[in-house]
Amino acid sequence: MLNVRSFNLGPLQTNAYLLTGSDPGRGIIIDPGMNPAALVRSIAGMEIEAILLTHAHFDHMGGVDEIRKLKNCPVYLHSLESEWLSSPKLNGSLKWPDVAPPLSTDPAEYDLAEGQILELIGHSFRVFHTPGHSPGSVSFLCGDDLFSGDVLFKLGVGRTDLPGGKERDLVDSLRGKLYKLDEEVKVYPGHGQRTTIGFERVRNPYVTL
Ligand SMILES: [Zn+2]
Ligand SMILES: [Zn+2]
Repeated sequence: MLNVRSFNLGPLQTNAYLLTGSDPGRGIIIDPGMNPAALVRSIAGMEIEAILLTHAHFDHMGGVDEIRKLKNCPVYLHSLESEWLSSPKLNGSLKWPDVAPPLSTDPAEYDLAEGQILELIGHSFRVFHTPGHSPGSVSFLCGDDLFSGDVLFKLGVGRTDLPGGKERDLVDSLRGKLYKLDEEVKVYPGHGQRTTIGFERVRNPYVTL
């Protein structure tokens, strides 16, 4: 059974997720955003097996540098955004100086790709490449839990007007991949509240099945 804790981090209220399996002392983190102090406190004494990034926008990667150094853990990111962690221009932090300082860190240790299965904390995580909000956006499915980054929100979808974003891709990612999952699948988005695939398929005002 996957245990999910969420943390609302930084000026854009980005959801970071701390996941553990049967061993509460070992975890993984999805999207450690800016100002991760609350998350850092919660992982004191824990071993962190990996940091998974749904994409490399600054509000999702702002805490990577601190946590990677603290826990000496590898970072996973889709190959289409492999330059973004070290580039404040690409990760967007340069564009909003009143929201974020220029952010950069070393590249990810591992590339993600469509269909890959990651074995972490005693669970399997399937990688879906779900571009549209950004070119390398991915979603992670573990059992009936889906971590959708900025692709799918409760009654919303990610913006497609940022560099590398494409509305057509976003619609394809939802209709062709995420909406095909079981209706019971719980969705943990990059911002806002949890939802389910069944609810969004019918009620999402931007993209329905
Ligand atoms: Zn984003
Ligand atoms: Zn975001």
